[in-house]
Amino acid sequence: MTRTPLIAGNWKMVLDHQQGTLLVQKLDWTLKDAKHDYSAVEVAVLPSYTSLRTVQTLIEGDKLSLKLGAQDLSAHESGAYTGEVSGAQLAKLGVRYVAVGHSERRQYHGETDELVNTKTKQALAHGLVPIVCVGEPLDVRKAAQHVEFTVGQVTQALSGLAKEQVAGLVLAYEPVWAIGTGEVATPEDAQEVCAALRAAVAEQFDAETAAATRVLYGGSVKPASIAAIMKQPDVDGALVGGASTDAADFAAIVRFR
Ligand code: PGA
Repeated sequence: MTRTPLIAGNWKMVLDHQQGTLLVQKLDWTLKDAKHDYSAVEVAVLPSYTSLRTVQTLIEGDKLSLKLGAQDLSAHESGAYTGEVSGAQLAKLGVRYVAVGHSERRQYHGETDELVNTKTKQALAHGLVPIVCVGEPLDVRKAAQHVEFTVGQVTQALSGLAKEQVAGLVLAYEPVWAIGTGEVATPEDAQEVCAALRAAVAEQFDAETAAATRVLYGGSVKPASIAAIMKQPDVDGALVGGASTDAADFAAIVRFR
C-alpha cells in the first residue's frame, strides 16, 4: 500500500487574510519554481476561519494545487451555536481537510476524547478528511506511558467508525511537549508512536485499513528536521505549525527529499 505523503501547514491564529494571501502566493510560486509534484507530496494549508474564503478563491481562481483545510469544526450539525462553524459550512467552501482534537483545543477548550470522536464523525458526514490529532503531555512521556496514552486517544477518536472511513482519514501524532517549543521528538520517537498508532488501527479495524491510514508527525518540524522524520516507515507526512507561516521554510519542508 503506497500512502501519498501529506505536509499540512497549521497557521493557528497567526495570520490575517492579507498575510495569508501573500503566503499562499509566495508558497505556490516557490513550489512551482521547484517543479514540485503535488501528486507525489500533497500540500495543505489550514488558515483561520476568517481567511478560508480568501484562500479558497485564490486556489480556485489560479488553479493552485494546494489543498484547503480548517483548524476545527463544530460538533453540531447546524443551529443556534454562536461562534461555531459547521462541517457543512466548511464543505460548501471547498475545504478538504479539518484538524480535530489539536492539543491546543484539548488544553485550552477542554476538548475530550468523546468530543473529538463526535467532531470526527461530523467531518466525515460532510465529506471532509479529518486530521485527528493525538499526543502526550510531558509528564506522560516522562512516565514512559506515551504509547498507551496516544493509542487510547486514537481508539476513542475512531470509535464507531467504519473501516472505509478510517482508511481515508489522517492521524497526527503531536507530542504536546514538542509543540512550539523547538523541542523535536527524535525520528525514532516519532516512528515508535506512529507505528503503535497504526498497529492500534489494525487491531481496532484490520491490517488493510491500517496500511491505508496516513499518520503524520507534528511538533517543531523545521526544514532541518523534516528529512530524517520522513525516512521513518510509519511517518507519512507532517503537521507543521510555526514553520508553515514562512513560505520559504514551509516550501523547504514540502521539498524534504
Ligand atoms: P509547531 O506546531 O510546528 O509550531 O510545533 C505544530 C502543531 O501544533 O500543529
